[in-house]
Amino acid sequence: MATQEETFKKLVAHCKEYGFVFPSSEIYDGLGAVYDYGQNGVELKNNIKRYWWDSMTLLHENIVGIDAAIFMHPTTWKASGHVDAFNDPLIDNRDSKKRYRADVLIEDQLAKIEEKINKEVEKAAKRFGDSFDETMFRQTNPRVLEHQEHWNQLHERYSKAMNANDLAELKQIILDEEIVCPISGTRNWTDVRQFNLMFQTEMGSTADGAMKIYLRPETAQGIFVNYLNVQKTGRMKIPFGIAQIGKAFRNEIVARQFVFRMREFEQMEMQFFIKPGTEMEWFKHWKEFRLKWHKALGLGDEKYRFHDHEKLAHYANAATDIEFLMPFGFKEVEGIHSRTNFDLSQHAKYSGKKIEYFDPELNESYTPFVIETSIGVDRMFLSIMCAAYKEEKLEGGDTRVVLNLPPVLAPVKACVMPLVKKDGLPEKAREVMDMLKFDFKTTYDEKDSIGKRYRRQDAIGTPFCITIDHDTLNDGCVTVRYRDTMAQDRVKIEDLHELIRKAVDMKQLYRKLMEA
Ligand code: ATP
Repeated sequence: MATQEETFKKLVAHCKEYGFVFPSSEIYDGLGAVYDYGQNGVELKNNIKRYWWDSMTLLHENIVGIDAAIFMHPTTWKASGHVDAFNDPLIDNRDSKKRYRADVLIEDQLAKIEEKINKEVEKAAKRFGDSFDETMFRQTNPRVLEHQEHWNQLHERYSKAMNANDLAELKQIILDEEIVCPISGTRNWTDVRQFNLMFQTEMGSTADGAMKIYLRPETAQGIFVNYLNVQKTGRMKIPFGIAQIGKAFRNEIVARQFVFRMREFEQMEMQFFIKPGTEMEWFKHWKEFRLKWHKALGLGDEKYRFHDHEKLAHYANAATDIEFLMPFGFKEVEGIHSRTNFDLSQHAKYSGKKIEYFDPELNESYTPFVIETSIGVDRMFLSIMCAAYKEEKLEGGDTRVVLNLPPVLAPVKACVMPLVKKDGLPEKAREVMDMLKFDFKTTYDEKDSIGKRYRRQDAIGTPFCITIDHDTLNDGCVTVRYRDTMAQDRVKIEDLHELIRKAVDMKQLYRKLMEA
């Protein structure tokens, strides 16, 4: 059995080999934590975005979209707190010259202790068999209790230090825990320093006084500064939401784990404006709706969990993450935050404009509160690829690599193949393809054996292969081969459209989302 790390490496290689993700500017040896999406990656990504966009703007009559510019007036970031508070604590190892996030080093240490506990539990479960009582074991086993006590103490110390922004204490924790650099293996650490994650650039020529501006680190502020525009022109009534998909940029200190942590990435964010005092109810509502959105894809309900934040951002009064089980553990894919009226009030203060809502029912004005749902397209992409990637042993000793992608998201829905390159079969195959291509992303393949062609489609997750053979010319039927089961069916050409539509139609997901 391959370890999870090996599987992940293979997935990264697969993404490149099959046109999903390439390192950016690869001919110049790439650029750290920046990636390009290839011909299949972009289709999958577009499908994810469509699923999100429609589930917000199509299914909710009180949610509308916008597309704000990446460049924003620099005061935006002063008001939002990003100039002063969008910092990560960083630490360098003097021997390896590698840079780390101090909080991540400590969190990894916490995860290691958890791992030790889980190993003890696993070992005991094997030893005791059916009579094993896990709860009892966790409460009484001396080794587990010792690890648990260590975890509790470290966790408390760490939370306190993070909340107080106590950089010296973060360093002390790293020293006390004897955390070593994974590269050099030494404890030769520098002090912990704050590092602002925003990229800066200049707008206008220096002659007329260039203005320092930032590449937006989140799309949310583009929504906040347009709150009044949308509310007024759309005659929106609270509660209502504004959705946006767009690029965001963060000069991440530690760039690793492929598209999980990038310096240029894409977010899908929705800000939901509500009456103050109703935030807990809406927070709960959006938590549930967003989890349902993930689960509707059928990647496995057990792969998701909520993780409530210990340390709340400066703007939030409640926050949770939806985490997905990646090969490197449960990791944040989406954040749901109750942002109070922090952002709108700050923009009102800094711009001098009144940013309020007149509530006709209450006959009074107030600054709306906000619930935000914020998901990274790239992390969503990665979670889907991790869940879909399978290496299967087949009868007869053969193996195949298959992507069990949800058919609604698959980059290519059907591949049409003539059995041979002659006897009028290619022409018939083109005819079938022309019949399907306005509705479904369809490709054509006539090269190599049918077996090889099937494997190529399995590797990119195409749910249907359609083979045209000599009988097709007489009986108007084709062989449909299904990706997951590899079963084959004889199907009339005129039934193909409905067969594919049923499997790839996003409406089935929308219906699931609308169920109570
Ligand atoms: P992390 O703690 O992993 O740095 P975060 O809590 O800072 O993430 P948010 O600011 O809540 O992330 O951003 C919302 C979403 O944007 C995240 O859930 C994630 O999916 C995505 N995201 C954030 N940073 C990155 C990044 N560097 N690369 C890819 N996606 C990202």
